Amino acid sequence: MKAVMVSITFLAIIAVTTVVFAGTLFNMKCESKTCGFEAGVMFGGGMAFQQLTGYCQSCEKFVYLQWTRKGSPLVDPNAEIVEPPEPLGKILDLRTGSTLTIFACPDCKGPFAEIKSLEDLKHCPACNKPEFAIDESKPTIVFD
Ligand SMILES: [Zn+2]
Ligand SMILES: [Zn+2]
Repeated sequence: MKAVMVSITFLAIIAVTTVVFAGTLFNMKCESKTCGFEAGVMFGGGMAFQQLTGYCQSCEKFVYLQWTRKGSPLVDPNAEIVEPPEPLGKILDLRTGSTLTIFACPDCKGPFAEIKSLEDLKHCPACNKPEFAIDESKPTIVFD
């Protein structure tokens, strides 16, 4: 009986780890007829790196910051260690009441807000209407 308990715990840990470490690419589309903005958006990192997602209003595209997942056996020991990015600050989003963390865009160095998950991405970044949804005609891709 004890052995069974141990293996269930082990399985649970594997399941949680897999969810946390895998990233997902969603093909998103604005359903507003006057907009039609489309973009692939990635959430989560891979086995060797961690990643955060945001939308840069200046560059008009989704941007990503990646850093090394320390301690991962998949990190190339010869590769340069990338430290986690320092946030520029936090702002309160009055629309949702949640706190947004602001980082510098990797391209233009302007500020962008982190989008933590797909649930936080209901509004189209181009037209701001709450009609941004997964494009069901395209595949959702899971990567490591
Ligand atoms: Zn930018
Ligand atoms: Zn739109």
